[in-house]
Amino acid sequence: MRYLIIGNSAAGVAAARTIRGADPAGEITIVGDEPYPYYARVLTSYYLGGLVSRERLWLAGEEWYREERIQLLTGRRAAGVDAAGRRVILDGGRELPYDRLLVATGANPQRVDFPGAGLPGVFTLRTIDDAAAIRQYARPGGRAVVIGGGLVGIKAAEGLHARGLRVSLVVSSGRLLSQALDDPGAELIRRAMTAAGFSIHLREDVVALEGQEKVTAAVLRSGATLPADVVVVGKGVRPNAGFLEGTGVAVNRGILVDAYLATSVPGIYAAGDVAEAFDRAWQQPRLNAIWGNAVEQGRLAGLNMAGRQTAYRGGIGQNSLVAGSLGVIGGGIVNPPVESQDRPAGSDGKQAGNGTPLSPLGEGYQVVTRLDEKRSLYRKAVLQGRRLVGMVAVGPPDGAGSFQALIGREVKEKYVDAFLRGSFTWAMVGR
Ligand SMILES: Cc1cc2nc3c(=O)[nH]c(=O)nc-3n(C[C@H](O)[C@H](O)[C@H](O)COP(=O)(O)OP(=O)(O)OC[C@H]3O[C@@H](n4cnc5c(N)ncnc54)[C@H](O)[C@@H]3O)c2cc1C
Repeated sequence: MRYLIIGNSAAGVAAARTIRGADPAGEITIVGDEPYPYYARVLTSYYLGGLVSRERLWLAGEEWYREERIQLLTGRRAAGVDAAGRRVILDGGRELPYDRLLVATGANPQRVDFPGAGLPGVFTLRTIDDAAAIRQYARPGGRAVVIGGGLVGIKAAEGLHARGLRVSLVVSSGRLLSQALDDPGAELIRRAMTAAGFSIHLREDVVALEGQEKVTAAVLRSGATLPADVVVVGKGVRPNAGFLEGTGVAVNRGILVDAYLATSVPGIYAAGDVAEAFDRAWQQPRLNAIWGNAVEQGRLAGLNMAGRQTAYRGGIGQNSLVAGSLGVIGGGIVNPPVESQDRPAGSDGKQAGNGTPLSPLGEGYQVVTRLDEKRSLYRKAVLQGRRLVGMVAVGPPDGAGSFQALIGREVKEKYVDAFLRGSFTWAMVGR
């Protein structure tokens, strides 16, 4: 059996590893357009900040591919797929035949097109090369502007800050981490980042970048100008599925896959950031661009490609990061889609442990929160009936990681109470 994997990262390598275990005689080829073996993309912002050395990024050396008898073609791009002939066409015209194909091409940063966006000193952060290039411009004592307040924007801002730059963060939304947090949680992060020296501009947009030979300033919609030696754009990502055009592979925002990670075209599978796979919190397909999901989807896709039919139970969008020295652990449905007004405290008679009302919101969602501004602590749990569908913990992380692992499962009210108080432990489950 000839297995061909496009994308040499979390999903692709997990699939290759699994296939080798399930089919020792199979021929496995990985094609990746970056010139490197497998590395930790999630650590690139720490490398940018000088907190992690380049050597620490490598997750597999070339000898690993040799030992596993995986042919690795680096620096090569898949330009198209001939699905009927079961061949992938690389840039330069070379054709690679396959019996099973995995598309694990991830996602790339959204581009911006305002004036000055192409100036030297303006970057996105996705690859090790991006991080290395940003480091050239990010001199300690300099000024940086980061556009976008999502996971990558915040991690880039933290990296630049750690490197000794004065960092301004420009965010279109009214709050930081707008997908991962709600207003009270995001406000704690904004205050902590401001206290740490970041300059945060909410409800603002960069409309132009100025400079001659390189970027020197960012112009905001309000008319303000922020000096900048380096600019990092972090406005979200888009799945790399364009090269599949004409193949019949169904693509919505990402490549649509069934419970076996198979696409709509026989023999072709997809996994990782490029795939729109089942989400256990939302109970529907969704893009969840996170490392853990990519690895798990790659593993499951590999099993299925090797003929071991195994259903994917679904992933959950999760976040875990530090911003302005405050921890954020969250996941699932943090902001339920249809929100009605909270009922006043106690009106529904259902109380969480700290006296916060367990108030029904919108379509059967119940939200409980606890805010302790003095301790910079915020906790939120979102339930649908007895099922935990989302949570957030800002500040001290006690028990939050364990509680996060319960998303998608039925939980007892005492677990929720304990989570809000910061005393939840895994040992409670099953008692
Ligand atoms: C700065 C940063 C910080 C992050 N932090 C976190 C974090 O803290 N936690 C977390 O869970 N996630 C984090 N992520 C997201 C995480 O890195 C991704 O979810 C994960 O890398 C997805 O893995 P993947 O294998 O699906 O795709 P990718 O890692 O994107 O790999 C896909 C590979 O395929 C290559 N490729 C694309 N098109 C082609 C083609 N046509 N031919 C050949 N090769 C191609 C790409 O260049 C890339 O090398 C972060 C991402 C970034 C950029």
